[in-house]
Amino acid sequence: MKITTIPVTPFMQNCRILQCAQSAQAAIIDPGGDSDKIIRALTQRGIEPSVIWLTHGHLDHVGAADTLRKHYQIDIVGPQRDEQFWFDALAQQAQMFGFAPQVPFLPDTWLEHGQTISLGEQQFEVRHCPGHTPGHVIFVCHSHKLAIVGDVIFKGSIGRTDFPKGDGPTLIASIKREVLSLDDDYRLLSGHGEETSVGQERHKNPFISGKFG
Ligand SMILES: [Zn+2]
Repeated sequence: MKITTIPVTPFMQNCRILQCAQSAQAAIIDPGGDSDKIIRALTQRGIEPSVIWLTHGHLDHVGAADTLRKHYQIDIVGPQRDEQFWFDALAQQAQMFGFAPQVPFLPDTWLEHGQTISLGEQQFEVRHCPGHTPGHVIFVCHSHKLAIVGDVIFKGSIGRTDFPKGDGPTLIASIKREVLSLDDDYRLLSGHGEETSVGQERHKNPFISGKFG
């Protein structure tokens, strides 16, 4: 599987292109903005995407999704349906984040915890991780030992919980249940910043190890 990272928006959100090596099927994950930049990167690499996956409904993760859906005639899949209020509020989010006006849209399909979704020959387990947002999901690929974790956890940090419907204890519980239950050698690909691993965060993340209050 090939993974390409394209930082988008002033928030430097990590839009990821996942490509199955066997089938050449490709997914765009969290296209937060800069649709021209994403299309250019795909064209340069000769990639024809087959689907868009979303971890959650914050504008810096979904801002280019509707444009790319129309451009490539593909579906938007995820997140979990508790996220709908963030999609309904996309116009307000544009003001909140200081982004260009955004017309609200919805995904084609909501995902549920425990579902398995495929990208060519690759299987991904969907895990529901509320806390940063209520319908946040992560995508876990056991055969490649990696997880796309959006804004649940970052290298040395965790997602913000001060937005509407955010909740700190819920986020910590999600991380312990759905992220730290993976083996230490699983790679964690976050929505912002460098990639990390389960082992690194288990031992060094101050929000988890309890070294901070
Ligand atoms: Zn977010």
